[in-house]
Amino acid sequence: MHVQTQVQLKNLNTLNLSAIASHYVKINQPSDAIEALAFAKKNDLNVLILSGGSNLLLPEHIHALVIHLNIQGIDRIDEDENTVTVKVGAGQVWHDFVLYSTQQHWYGLQNLALIPGLVGASPVQNIGAYGVEVGEFIESVQVYDRELQQFSSILSQDCNFAYRHSRFKEEPNRYIILSVTFKLLKKAALKLSYGDLQQAMADELTAENLQNKVIQIRQSKLPNPKDFPNVGSFFKNPILTQAAFDKISQQFPNTPHYPQANSDVKVAAGWLIDQAGWKGKQLGTVGMFHKQALVLVNYADATLADVKKTYQAVQFDVKQKFSIQLEPEPVLYSEQGLIQAHGD
Ligand SMILES: Cc1cc2nc3c(=O)[nH]c(=O)nc-3n(C[C@H](O)[C@H](O)[C@H](O)COP(=O)(O)OP(=O)(O)OC[C@H]3O[C@@H](n4cnc5c(N)ncnc54)[C@H](O)[C@@H]3O)c2cc1C
Repeated sequence: MHVQTQVQLKNLNTLNLSAIASHYVKINQPSDAIEALAFAKKNDLNVLILSGGSNLLLPEHIHALVIHLNIQGIDRIDEDENTVTVKVGAGQVWHDFVLYSTQQHWYGLQNLALIPGLVGASPVQNIGAYGVEVGEFIESVQVYDRELQQFSSILSQDCNFAYRHSRFKEEPNRYIILSVTFKLLKKAALKLSYGDLQQAMADELTAENLQNKVIQIRQSKLPNPKDFPNVGSFFKNPILTQAAFDKISQQFPNTPHYPQANSDVKVAAGWLIDQAGWKGKQLGTVGMFHKQALVLVNYADATLADVKKTYQAVQFDVKQKFSIQLEPEPVLYSEQGLIQAHGD
């Protein structure tokens, strides 16, 4: 384990924010986590866990130990007639694992192809796309529990998975996720409920085709962070009570919405942003993408302060028009390496 100092993280976060970490270490195996935590304690540093950097907002200077997860490995640990159980290192690239699972004829994750980031981050916000959330296919999550100072395994039902939410968000500084155990299907049960997919899947229905369609649709709609640095959807789709939604739809009858199981209604944040005039609009070097209003782009060397200015202006305009407070999706960090509430 080699701790480096004054490390530039610009190329390690997909929004390309310049962020210099006072201390940085890459960990390759679970036992390194203990050593890294001991170093942080000895040097009185907070700890910031970094994976693919595709869902976080970093300040220009971070006085903390940044622990970069690089634990590899894909092990088939069990199977029965219908399912296969696979344990995957936190440092595996998510999309590569999805492609590999499809090649192996392990099914379930195909709708989640091309989501950036690493496997260890997938349970944190319960990544989801095209009608599937990863929590549906997670059996357990292996962690180092910083509070109890021990390794443990958390069963899926104890992970509190919900829309872009999990136990790991509720207790942000407690767990280091070291690997994730998935239970995948041997027979494909394709989920085509999402509008675009149904239309696109006129061809032969196979898991491989579904995965390819998802990749195609995503490439046509979402900017590649290499060309337009971004963190994907910048805001969560707001979930309203039926009464609150009825009020909005009286004034805006075309509001795209998705009824939820408990009678709440999810509203498309991208549409709200578009209607508030922000699609393709920039404030300085930061703006909302011209093809997808939900994606905030760093067009040139923006800092976190620039990003904040833009997203707060978007929030303000959407609130003025619809009385809805948009909530940012990426995790915001302070200069001390701690997770902050947006708006602080
Ligand atoms: C172009 C684009 C498209 C996207 N599309 C989607 C999408 O369709 N659906 C979706 O849900 N998300 C999407 N995202 C968001 C993002 O890719 C996911 O949230 C992804 O899981 C983040 O992974 P990461 O490895 O980059 O995590 P990071 O950004 O490095 O970390 C995110 C948070 O998780 C914590 N964390 C990460 N790994 C661990 C670990 N091993 N242990 C403990 N804590 C950890 C970090 O500390 C941080 O707070 C998109 C992003 C981009 C740029």
